[in-house]
Amino acid sequence: MSNGILVFVEHREGVVNKTSFEAVAAAQQLGAALGREVTAVVLGTDASLAGEVAGYNVSQVISAESPKLDVYTPDAYADAMEQVVRAVSPQFVVMPHTYLVRDYAPKLAARFGKGLISDCVRARAEGGSVTFTRRIFLGKIDADVVAEGEPPAFATFQSGAYRPDQAEKGGGAPVESMTVEVGEVRMRPEPPFQEVKGAVDLSKADVIIAVGRGIKSQENLALAEKLAEALGGEIAASRPICDAGWLPIDRQIGSSGQTVAPKLYVALGISGAIQHLVGMKNASTIVAVNKDPEAPIFDIADYGIVGDLFEVVPVLTEEVKKLKG
Ligand SMILES: Cc1cc2nc3c(=O)[nH]c(=O)nc-3n(C[C@H](O)[C@H](O)[C@H](O)COP(=O)(O)OP(=O)(O)OC[C@H]3O[C@@H](n4cnc5c(N)ncnc54)[C@H](O)[C@@H]3O)c2cc1C
Repeated sequence: MSNGILVFVEHREGVVNKTSFEAVAAAQQLGAALGREVTAVVLGTDASLAGEVAGYNVSQVISAESPKLDVYTPDAYADAMEQVVRAVSPQFVVMPHTYLVRDYAPKLAARFGKGLISDCVRARAEGGSVTFTRRIFLGKIDADVVAEGEPPAFATFQSGAYRPDQAEKGGGAPVESMTVEVGEVRMRPEPPFQEVKGAVDLSKADVIIAVGRGIKSQENLALAEKLAEALGGEIAASRPICDAGWLPIDRQIGSSGQTVAPKLYVALGISGAIQHLVGMKNASTIVAVNKDPEAPIFDIADYGIVGDLFEVVPVLTEEVKKLKG
């Protein structure tokens, strides 16, 4: 099993996160292109989650277990993953680019004297070597990165780089339990951060209606909220809207806000500044409404409506309602 692909599957309180299935899809595609096996790893205290992951097309699932893995700490995760990586001896370790991975993965990579090729948007395999692509300078330039030296190489993939439904199901991979030794854990996690009441994890939303400065005033948000309600979506915004306090900061999309990849992203009165685009350009379908035909948002929109949002949105909302009966 050595020199295959090892994919890290993250979970919180027994729920595997969506970005992990995207990482599984990335690992499977890489495995297929290189003719290598894919092993998935789940860290925790019991093997039940590994059973869920075993339903995917991987050659095996390792359930690395220790009582010290019941809650996330970077020390425990780095210790556990180090042992799994040494046991599996993969060519590539593929991980989702989540906050948790960002926290412990550099430490893990450093233990192998390696860097972390982080936040990749794609990977291309050619002649046994893999070129990872990551966006730099706020998405203005794509950099191709090739890992040098002995394996393993460590890479994380940006949310939305692959679709979770691209992760192929399989015939039930074997689960191997592995007891891992976890050394000193130097921190105790505080109780989970309490989000503001009613806060949503926008990365989980299938439909997002985002408003920009074109909405003009806080009162006008109701217009977008009606469209969001009709489409069953969540409200989000560009930075000026959150800076003005019209929406809470957890609704901000972009380089200093959230990165999302919904099925549908509707941008209302958003110009399409690069700092906004980096947070949403992986959406499957982008619809933009803007009265300026030259607005950069139209460069990445699948459907563009040049017009006044105060005229367009009520019509759009009514039509959606009619279609949905
Ligand atoms: C370090 C840094 C970090 C940043 N981080 C972020 C970030 O995370 N997220 C983010 O969004 N921005 C971020 N920004 C700000 C970013 O550069 C832009 O200023 C911001 O995205 C612009 O927001 P906007 O598109 O809503 O406003 P504007 O650029 O003012 O665009 C408003 C648009 O609305 C259109 N419009 C006006 N009236 C109507 C109407 N009646 N109907 C239809 N269209 C109309 C206009 O044609 C225009 O295109 C950051 C900037 C910096 C420097």
